[in-house]
Amino acid sequence: HHPDRSTVWVGRIGSQVPIGPDTFTFIAGPCAVETPGQTLEAAEMAKAAGATLLRGGAFKPRTSPYAFQGLGIKGLEILADVRETTGLPIVTEVVDARDVPVVAEHADMLQIGTRNMANFGLLQAVGDAGKPVLLKRGMTATIEEWLMAAEYVAQRGNLDVVLCERGIRTFEPSTRNTLDISAVPVVQSISHLPIIVDPSHAGGRKDLVVPLSRAAIGVGADGVIVDVHPDPENALCDGPQALLGTELRELAQAVRTIPPVV
Ligand code: PEP
Repeated sequence: HHPDRSTVWVGRIGSQVPIGPDTFTFIAGPCAVETPGQTLEAAEMAKAAGATLLRGGAFKPRTSPYAFQGLGIKGLEILADVRETTGLPIVTEVVDARDVPVVAEHADMLQIGTRNMANFGLLQAVGDAGKPVLLKRGMTATIEEWLMAAEYVAQRGNLDVVLCERGIRTFEPSTRNTLDISAVPVVQSISHLPIIVDPSHAGGRKDLVVPLSRAAIGVGADGVIVDVHPDPENALCDGPQALLGTELRELAQAVRTIPPVV
């Protein structure tokens, strides 16, 4: 038993963006914040395509410790400047409980990435931060474990949690992870929390972003979060999944033509 499906509001009073059952929220932005110019360009591409929230990683949890780890606090400052210019509220990842206060000071929504879904101290810290939380599914987590992770945030009095299905690890090597599209209606049947889909990190391939977004729309997800980059070939992080040009226009079209909720 749970209450009717919730809407989570993100951003400053007066210009808040809803994520929930009565709308479809399009979130886009660069995987990683690299420079002020690249972040602004990506944000303008996202906004022109219809996105109402900007994503961008300042603290990047990379599989290899030798890969670009993000700009840290400098990246948060760039995001905050880009918010001033574009008006788009920001969602960005926090990977360490010690960084929660500084990330919460700059961002409108705190993201917990797949690798930290079961980092309970971090979940409690974001629960205490007073900002909405985007909780990605652990790539090896069951739906039950994911919902229990959300409870760690909720237990601190923060019910503004949005779930994000971003693919799970299976035996199939042709995509980075396997998007568990059935998780969307399953979660909606047992939880009141909004749920969105990340087709970029699930597939790891830009050619899959539009079809997987259409699948997310088809199963009734509350939104999508996608990577865009003005120069994907030279991106410091996850360039192969970043949209530019044709795919971004196709995605914008798919998002615009969502059938009405009946
Ligand atoms: C991201 O969204 O930047 C990210 C790293 O995603 P995930 O945690 O799903 O891999």
